[in-house]
Amino acid sequence: MNNTLFDNHGRPLTYLRLAVTDRCNLRCFYCMPAGGIQYIPRKELLSFEEMERLVRLLVSMGIQKVRITGGEPFVRKDMIHFMESLSSIEGLQAINLTTNGVLTGQYISQLKALGIKSVNLSIDSLDRERFARITRRDELPEVLRTLDALLEAGIPTKLNAVVMDGQNEEDLIPLAMLSKDHPLDVRFIEEMPFNGEGAHYTQLKWTWQAILDKLKTQFPDIQPVKAEAHATARQYQLAGHQGKIGIIPAFSRTFCGSCNRIRLTAKGQLKTCLYDEGVLDIKALMRAGASDEELKKAFLSAFSNRAKDGFDAENKRKKGGKISESMSTIGG
Ligand code: SAM
Ligand code: SF4
Repeated sequence: MNNTLFDNHGRPLTYLRLAVTDRCNLRCFYCMPAGGIQYIPRKELLSFEEMERLVRLLVSMGIQKVRITGGEPFVRKDMIHFMESLSSIEGLQAINLTTNGVLTGQYISQLKALGIKSVNLSIDSLDRERFARITRRDELPEVLRTLDALLEAGIPTKLNAVVMDGQNEEDLIPLAMLSKDHPLDVRFIEEMPFNGEGAHYTQLKWTWQAILDKLKTQFPDIQPVKAEAHATARQYQLAGHQGKIGIIPAFSRTFCGSCNRIRLTAKGQLKTCLYDEGVLDIKALMRAGASDEELKKAFLSAFSNRAKDGFDAENKRKKGGKISESMSTIGG
């Protein structure tokens, strides 16, 4: 039986996002500069054993769901075996994956066999040229093959698309149309300034409201539907479509009041909000020989000092509040 874990604002914490690497085989311009980022030295990455220990501990404290993210999870060697080992953790109710889909196709049957709960596949454009411009790699055909294979295998799948000024506005309607003939949720995400450089914009043009207005031009009958508890996406249904449409106000941060997430970065920092700069160096404690009880105590102390919302977390940053790190070090 799981414990229930709460933060200092009474919000239950049940969901861990685990960034298993900061390395990636794409260079999405909203996530990192063309030349990539300064990768964390290999020995500074959490090892598989360290990650498994932390997941076990957090599950014993009340975490129920783990999302594997990165960087690109499958650029880390033996990732699928690590995921298989997580699937035997007692009390862990769901393993999910966020991936760019370039290397994922070869692992579909193993993902299915380990009982993956769902996969979020990132596709910002269905046009090969625009996809290559955004990701700086010509990999759309491979990503679409992965999408087909996921659907074929019956693995619940969601598409993630970041909406960017002057980059992929034309793709909103074609992407939304993918929810028609497949049981596929398509989610549009506000661009955040986590690109390794700092914001591309002074004022965000594609807010959740602007995205909704654009969808309404093609789908005037788009209907809001009740989202699941703790969901970050505002959810909508289009008449006759099998899947739903989601819009994630990731920059506007309207969902913080029910946020149930914590994050572990690839270098072993605990984040209790996407917008904080890391609130606990759990790797340092572990490598200094801390016992499970000591790690638990450190986690509990961080959970009881959690920022109220993403604006509060951003204001508490030490380096003048400026966000410029790459999302590939955080995991989204
Ligand atoms: N590489 C995998 C992928 O792209 O799906 C997993 C890691 S990626 C950092 C996780 C999610 O964060 C992706 O859906 C990506 O589109 C999103 N993301 C990355 N940078 C972002 C940004 N600056 N603003 C909004 N979403 C972002
Ligand atoms: Fe890589 Fe994902 Fe970042 Fe794109 S969004 S560069 S695929 S980590």
